[in-house]
Amino acid sequence: MGLFSKIKEGLKRTQSKLFHEVKRIVTSSPKLTGDSIEELEYVLISADLGMQMTRQIIDAAKKAYETQGKSGDDFFAIARNEIEKSLTSERCDLAKSDGGLTIVSMVGVNGTGKTTTSAKLANLIQNNGQKAMLAACDTFRAAAIDQLKLWGERLNVDVVAGDYGSDPASVAHDAVTSAKAKGCNYLFVDTAGRLHTKNNLMKELEKLHRVIGKQEQGAPHEVLLVVDATTGMNAMNQAREFNKIAPLTGLVVTKLDGTSKGGMVVAIQKELNLPVKFIGVGEKADDLQSFDPKQYAQALFPDPAEE
Ligand code: GDP
Repeated sequence: MGLFSKIKEGLKRTQSKLFHEVKRIVTSSPKLTGDSIEELEYVLISADLGMQMTRQIIDAAKKAYETQGKSGDDFFAIARNEIEKSLTSERCDLAKSDGGLTIVSMVGVNGTGKTTTSAKLANLIQNNGQKAMLAACDTFRAAAIDQLKLWGERLNVDVVAGDYGSDPASVAHDAVTSAKAKGCNYLFVDTAGRLHTKNNLMKELEKLHRVIGKQEQGAPHEVLLVVDATTGMNAMNQAREFNKIAPLTGLVVTKLDGTSKGGMVVAIQKELNLPVKFIGVGEKADDLQSFDPKQYAQALFPDPAEE
């Protein structure tokens, strides 16, 4: 399956809901009257595009309809255009350190997909011909250590793990030493899920970052917050709180395949001013995509003539 088909497939639930609802509204009211505008607003907000983005699309559509006589199916192109304009225009790839090793810390609340995404990222790097390593620093959950080891076996990626209950900062320390010794290009540190409200756990994350920062200049070079698309706007609070403790460099939005609210990718990026770097569209190792705003906008609002 091509990359674009994969994004389309992953966003199918969101896209199909948006497409059918929007099509119905613009077909029955091609000139966008008061009621139909309200209906469109409702549909966009239901897809979690967020208030700001929804307003921007509706305003642009109203203007285009009034001044250029646009109508009906043009709404899709207008929405697509506004979304593209609002998102970071470049595709953002992973940071790369000046030294040999880039350390990426994966943070977020439990169950968002940190462990799975760490493994998917390691897979991506290896598929690009570089060497990756995984650090199992979620020492609170025995299952998380086992899960990461299993991924490591499957993907042929080295995993550094400590015992259940051991100090995550010390596992991270060992992992950095090992990754450097083995000439790895990337080390992905899977951290324990924590509620952003739990102060002591957040402090522990700070410590982990401090320890690896002492070992390797500028580390962690990337701090990715993993958020679950199915939790909708909750992700916004998580991002705000994590950002205070561990300044985030980007987001990974997972489980887009399981929601019709995939618009939250736009809302979160627009409102937090943080780039979405990757999206998760399934449970398998290659179900991770670099986030491409243009393809995303196209997948969400395809040209009706091509559907
Ligand atoms: P963690 O607690 O944050 O480390 O979360 P896990 O990596 O253990 O993931 C929790 C569950 O979400 C697992 O069952 C994963 O298979 C699943 N998962 C992770 N990413 C995705 C995704 O993009 N799509 C789907 N459908 N499931 C995912």
